[in-house]
Amino acid sequence: MSTFLFSGPVFGPVHSRRLGNSLGINLLPVDGKVCSFDCVYCECGFNADTRPKSRLPTRAETAEKLEARLRRYAEEGVRIDALTFAGNGEPTAHPEFPEIIEDAIAIRDRWMPGAAVCVLTNAVNILKPRVAVALTRIEKPMLKLDSVDPDYVRLVNRPQCRVDIPRLVEAMSKLKGKCIIQTMFIKGSVEGRPIDNTADSFVLPWIEALKKIQPAEVSIYSLDRDVPCPTVLSASGEDLRRIGRLVEAAGIRAVVSAERSEVEREKEKD
Ligand code: SF4
Repeated sequence: MSTFLFSGPVFGPVHSRRLGNSLGINLLPVDGKVCSFDCVYCECGFNADTRPKSRLPTRAETAEKLEARLRRYAEEGVRIDALTFAGNGEPTAHPEFPEIIEDAIAIRDRWMPGAAVCVLTNAVNILKPRVAVALTRIEKPMLKLDSVDPDYVRLVNRPQCRVDIPRLVEAMSKLKGKCIIQTMFIKGSVEGRPIDNTADSFVLPWIEALKKIQPAEVSIYSLDRDVPCPTVLSASGEDLRRIGRLVEAAGIRAVVSAERSEVEREKEKD
C-alpha cells in the first residue's frame, strides 16, 4: 500500500485532464486525514492509519498562501485553470469553509479571473445550509455519489456518520443543475464480500437518482493509484464507457476517465 498526503494548504499545480492546470487547496491537517467517510479506495489511506496531530489551517493562513501563490503566477504569466479544494480529506469539514470559499472567490477575481473554483466533496455536508449555499457560489461543486445502495455505501464508503441517501439526492437536486456528480466504479471484494457497482443492479438505480439531480455533468472513473484495501480492483475502460453511454442516453452529460486510467496502468507496467 502506498498512499499520500498533501503537505500544505496550497499544493500543485497539477495537470488534470478535466480541470486543466489545477492549484490544490487543502483545508485539512498536513500530517493526517480528516473525513466523514473512510472509503476503501481513499488515496490518503484509512482514517485510523493517518490520524493527524497538527491543526487545521486557519482561514487567514489559507488566504495568505493562496494570494501569494496566485499573485506570483499572475506576474509570471502562468495560467491556472482551476482552484480545487481537495487534499487530506473532506474540505467542507473545515468550520470556516463558507468564509474560505468567499476569500478564494475574491482572490481568484483579483489575480486569476479565468480560473474555476472547484470543491471535491463526499456531499454529506450539503445538508447544512451554510455549506450548500457556499457550493452554489462556485463554478464546480463536485459531489460524490458512488451508489444509491445503502449496503454498498456502508461497505465501500464506510461513512462515520448517518447517511440518508434519498435526502442527499434531494439536496443535490437543489443545486439547480450546477453540480458535477463524481462516481468511482470498482470491483473486487471488501471484507470477503464481492463488490461491483458497474453491474446493472447498481447502475440503473444510480441513473434514476441522476435523473432527479439533473447534474451539469457526471464524472465516471476508476482507480488511478494504489489504495489502502488491496482486494479492491479497477473497473475496466469498457465498463466505464458503457456506463457513460447509459448516462448520455438519459440526457445527462458524462465524462469518462477510462482512457486516463488505462494509460496510467500501462505506465505502471513499464
Ligand atoms: S470521501 Fe474522499 S477523502 Fe473521504 S475517505 Fe472517501 S475518498 Fe477519501
